[in-house]
Amino acid sequence: MASEQAAKPRPRSHLSDDILTDYASGAADEALALLVASHLDYCPACRERLVAIEAVGGALLESLAPVPLERITVDSVLARIEAEDTAGGDPAGAGAEGLSDGGWLPAPLKPYVDGIRAASTADVEAWPWQALARGADMIDLPVSGRSYTALLLRLRAGTIGPRHAHRGNELVLVMCGSFADATGTYRCGDIAYNAPDSQHCPVAGREEDCICLVVMDAPLRMAGRLSRLADTLLRR
Ligand SMILES: [Zn+2]
Repeated sequence: MASEQAAKPRPRSHLSDDILTDYASGAADEALALLVASHLDYCPACRERLVAIEAVGGALLESLAPVPLERITVDSVLARIEAEDTAGGDPAGAGAEGLSDGGWLPAPLKPYVDGIRAASTADVEAWPWQALARGADMIDLPVSGRSYTALLLRLRAGTIGPRHAHRGNELVLVMCGSFADATGTYRCGDIAYNAPDSQHCPVAGREEDCICLVVMDAPLRMAGRLSRLADTLLRR
């Protein structure tokens, strides 16, 4: 297990401190928390940063007077952690309990896949995919929460996905394969963030199908249903 994990490249595109702070404080919706926890499964850098954020939060709560609070920042805590851990290793618990089954499914997501009555979490072809567009399928994930919804998105290898615009925030975690858009190329463990009013056209890498966890806090622009939007755009 450890050797397989070590062979995987580490994510290059990460979560913001604001989102990690919401996660640490419990303010994140279930869908967003699921995405954060899943990314943390891949990412020692964000695990370490989360430890620092929690430490800052604890320090702010505990020291109301004597400690110069302006000096307590995530970066200063990280610097201290790194100084205390010069031997290498992973202070935040790398290597994780981690990716289950096929080697790419993050552990926090596994119960959700079980919940969609997949015959086997390892048999992706048997999951109840709903056609979204040519070469693109999705599965809605049951989550509670006021703001964010969650879905699994699969783009077949080499597929040019439907161009779409975002009314709100969208975060994408790549779990398998890769995709690229105008903002860059995203591989296993990477987070892609799409801001309100942005639009993009993801293209899956040719090496294998790209499977992502997608969370968003508002419907996509121009259509009430993703499938209708995809159909419309593909006919252009
Ligand atoms: Zn990260």
